[in-house]
Amino acid sequence: MHIQRRIHRFVIGGVLTCAAVVCAATQQGLGYKGTPQIPGTTWCVHDGDRPQPRVVEPGSTFSQGAPAPADAVVLFDGKDLSHWTDSRGRPAAWRVNSDELYMESTRGSVRSKDKFADFQLHLEFATPSQARGTGQARGNSGVLINGMYEIQVLDSYQDKTYPDGQCGAMYGQTPPLVNACKAPGQWQTYDIIFESPRWDAGGELIKKANVTVIQNGVVLHHKRDFLGATDGIGGVPHTALGAYLQQHAPEVFIELQDHGNPVRYRNIWVRTLGDYDQT
Ligand code: MG
Repeated sequence: MHIQRRIHRFVIGGVLTCAAVVCAATQQGLGYKGTPQIPGTTWCVHDGDRPQPRVVEPGSTFSQGAPAPADAVVLFDGKDLSHWTDSRGRPAAWRVNSDELYMESTRGSVRSKDKFADFQLHLEFATPSQARGTGQARGNSGVLINGMYEIQVLDSYQDKTYPDGQCGAMYGQTPPLVNACKAPGQWQTYDIIFESPRWDAGGELIKKANVTVIQNGVVLHHKRDFLGATDGIGGVPHTALGAYLQQHAPEVFIELQDHGNPVRYRNIWVRTLGDYDQT
């Protein structure tokens, strides 16, 4: 029922340009069938038949170990989780290895205490060196901006899943341009530039959120709009399709997802963009 309600809403809003399918999604092969069509594409959410991004072997370590610029806010330097809470504002419970300067996902997602409107984010991650499972069960985590715009973190090295859910995907919406993953256990970089959505005083959406993502020195997205929040439930979009249903302030937190796999993060810093003549 929940799915049918959502889709009915999309059709009324004129978002979909083709027939919406209201049956329950069924998993087939790499992905799902029976999910709604993604606006602006011929593909359905989590469509396993969507072309797999080509593989590009990263040429270098790129920004790995990049020291934070002078105007950056350092969210994690490997020592402690003082800049993070859990999703309820309680102390973050992730394991910190202060010798090797990383934290590891466990017991719920963590989110930054600080919020940023438009920003440049640097972080490094490593999926488990002992790769287990396949597809969405393999090294799953994510960078969930404001808990609602997910850049997927996944072990997609020589392992396939539905393309709009692979590593670097704008989850459930847009696959990365290429697959630039390193092998399990290796440190990888994300350099993410994000601009928040904006609403006018009357509550009208006047700018969608957009993102640029560089993984290991390779561009995955270049100023690509989010269609809305990227939440998914059982492979079926929750608010994914053109649905900016929840108005929020431009200042957003950065959340790192615990998806039940021990994914590591290190060297996380953020710069607010602003304009050149603003501090
Ligand atoms: Mg994820």
